[in-house]
Amino acid sequence: MPTVNAFAATSASGPLSRTTIERRDVGAKDVLIEIAYSGICHSDIHTVRGEWGDITYPQVVGHEIVGTVTEVGSEVTLHKVGDRVGVGCMVNSCRECENCIAGEEQYCLNGNTGTYASVDRDGTITQGGYSTHIVVVEDFVLRVPEAIPFEKAAPLLCAGITTYSPLAHWKVGPGSRVAVVGMGGLGHMAVKIAHAMGAEVTVLSQSLSKQEDGLRLGADHYYATSDPATFDKLKNTFDLIVNSVSAKIDINAYLSLLRLDGTLVSVGAPPEPLPVQVFSLFGNRRSFAGSGIGSIRETQEMLDFCAEHGIAPETELVAADYINEAYERVLASDVRYRFVIDAATLA
Ligand code: NAP
Ligand code: ZN
Ligand code: ZN
Repeated sequence: MPTVNAFAATSASGPLSRTTIERRDVGAKDVLIEIAYSGICHSDIHTVRGEWGDITYPQVVGHEIVGTVTEVGSEVTLHKVGDRVGVGCMVNSCRECENCIAGEEQYCLNGNTGTYASVDRDGTITQGGYSTHIVVVEDFVLRVPEAIPFEKAAPLLCAGITTYSPLAHWKVGPGSRVAVVGMGGLGHMAVKIAHAMGAEVTVLSQSLSKQEDGLRLGADHYYATSDPATFDKLKNTFDLIVNSVSAKIDINAYLSLLRLDGTLVSVGAPPEPLPVQVFSLFGNRRSFAGSGIGSIRETQEMLDFCAEHGIAPETELVAADYINEAYERVLASDVRYRFVIDAATLA
């Protein structure tokens, strides 16, 4: 089993640090990927800090991975050595349940195998992308189009697909009025993708500090949620609200902004419940929904959509030794708009 360099959390409260981990030998249907870049998602922070439940340490996180194929198993047909590829939030699923058969394996009824902190098919705990190499079964590996700059592509594998999927599911297009709550890693991708789909896009951010950026990324309107007048002005306005906030917010205030048959979909995953008053839903026959990542098929569709529309995340490339500082900046909403680790700094 190859031993590779990685950066791991060793406890819920301590800093992440350098380590080595073992990757499995390349099986018949596996692909060995030399990781080039790995994005930092807020889910990595929720996970290593135990906010979503206890985990086993040491744990390597990271599920926005791009790299180059350096070895393929004897039965691999989808990828070849030298290909530019990506790996997102899951690396396997049961392939038998009705959701897997429907091509929605992110909702595998037996639980998809997460890229990290998940029990793998061989019983080991999966270790994610803050590492130099990863071994993944071929059909959970994506093709990264040449048109997408490699050093910016990684965040598409989570932030991109997690926002593309609900925008596509609720059929956003010309004439749709879409609001994006929180302009961080996911939020800024929601703005770009919804704009490219033809929607009229509004950002609802805590302050106006990122207004210029929001408008540059494709938003038509930008409001501060710290100003109570925002909620009066925008009542009954939106067809779809994508909530990407990592913390608890007053969800009823946001529901009031939906017009007839509008939906508020939460992709943000705060550890605390978001209490909903049913009366917030009666008016305008509103819906409150959730959405988790996206299928492999849809992730490929999203990558091709981004290539076609010239969409790439706004990134700040950092060395592995900057990860702990990057976490603090993400927590302070001081990210513009995704940190990406240069895996060469782990070598
Ligand atoms: P992020 O970069 O930290 O962005 C979150 C944004 O939420 C911040 O930039 C900030 O935007 C806003 N925010 C933060 N704290 C807030 C508070 N107390 N009140 C109001 N707004 C606040 O995080 P991310 O990586 O985009 O992830 C966002 C959430 O999505 C996380 O909970 C993550 O775990 C979850 N997630 C879910 C899925 C899924 O499958 N559903 C996939 C990936 C991530 P402003 O400064 O603009 O207000
Ligand atoms: Zn993520
Ligand atoms: Zn399944």
